[in-house]
Amino acid sequence: MNKPLIVQKFGGTSVGSIERIQSVAKQVIQAKLAGNRLVVVVSAMSGETNRLVELAKQIDSVPNARELDVLLSTGEQVSMALLAMALSKLGHHSVSLTGQQAQIQTNNQHNHATISEINTQVIQRYLDDEIIVIVAGFQGVNALGDITTLGRGGSDTTAVTLAAALLADECQIYTDVAGVYTADPRVVVNAKCLDKIDFTTMEVMSKKGAKVLHLPCVTHAGKNDVPLRVLSSFESGSGTLVKGWNPTPGMSGIALKKHLLAISIPAHQKQRIDQQIKLCGIEIDCQITDDADYTLIAQPDAIHRVVAMLSEVATEKSPVGLVTVVGDISPPFTSQSQQLLNLAEISVLHFCEDKHSFTFVIASEAIDKAANVLHDNYIISNDTVSREEKLAYLG
Ligand code: ASP
Ligand code: MG
Repeated sequence: MNKPLIVQKFGGTSVGSIERIQSVAKQVIQAKLAGNRLVVVVSAMSGETNRLVELAKQIDSVPNARELDVLLSTGEQVSMALLAMALSKLGHHSVSLTGQQAQIQTNNQHNHATISEINTQVIQRYLDDEIIVIVAGFQGVNALGDITTLGRGGSDTTAVTLAAALLADECQIYTDVAGVYTADPRVVVNAKCLDKIDFTTMEVMSKKGAKVLHLPCVTHAGKNDVPLRVLSSFESGSGTLVKGWNPTPGMSGIALKKHLLAISIPAHQKQRIDQQIKLCGIEIDCQITDDADYTLIAQPDAIHRVVAMLSEVATEKSPVGLVTVVGDISPPFTSQSQQLLNLAEISVLHFCEDKHSFTFVIASEAIDKAANVLHDNYIISNDTVSREEKLAYLG
């Protein structure tokens, strides 16, 4: 019987220095010695892709798209070669492959290409010979044989797509946090790292602002039934396993989106504006219709584009954020949570309900407080947070 096959992906900070690459090599060896076959996907060393983009922009503010891909793909090549050297130095046989060598075919859309097919024969041959295969993330090759890249953050997509094509037992995304938390731990004091989460809940968390996993990565892994594990390359631990589609009962977490803008326009303009937004491919984070107004909430760039489309002058833009409770929302929730937020002197500007989630629109300055109040009331059980602590947040 074949040994289990694991695809491991190490992001920019995980391979950000020679010391980090040596430490990753040791982690890879540990997994190999535990009896696994390994494919390792690497990102460029942290800051490198930005540095290359800056160089290109010094030549042309909109660089030639084909040549930008040639340039950006070098970042991942540096990481993969250094990791292969580190493994070799430690006495382990590995091979590094570019997107082209690994036969990762993409469409023709330079800078934002989509993987169309992976011919896994090359990788399989190396795996059959017990060789660790290192693949450059974020890149592929189009039908013309030109290098393409998958869009920023694309190494996760490479890892998940490879895992699906190779029928891997698990795809492990190594990052700089211990796993998926019930809320952003930099904002919510009592956020907890989860052992396990289902794809339905994880998809909603990512869609509503959790940054630990990109939405396309979650969706692709879920569709292909590839168990995903998020774990830290800086500390030991088993991280968070994302598996299965059955939503976890109850409420699972809080997702945040900060630094957004809101504009309200007369409700009768909704249809026309929606059509234009769709035509221009502008991404809107939240839309709310009431009797008189139609409110749109999105990233500042997107709102500025919408404002430019409006014929009216002087549309007021207010800084807001979204706090979303993810999970099963049952009826008393709306009034109960509003009461809770009011008690903490946080005013809810709007709210909207979605499948498996409930979102509050809140003025920017109150976002962190709102996230803590909602998290401690709905996510943390009563025995882990004392009433005193809860009241401290409220007042
Ligand atoms: N190096 C690329 C980026 O910085 C791809 C990735 O890291 O996933 O966006
Ligand atoms: Mg990333």
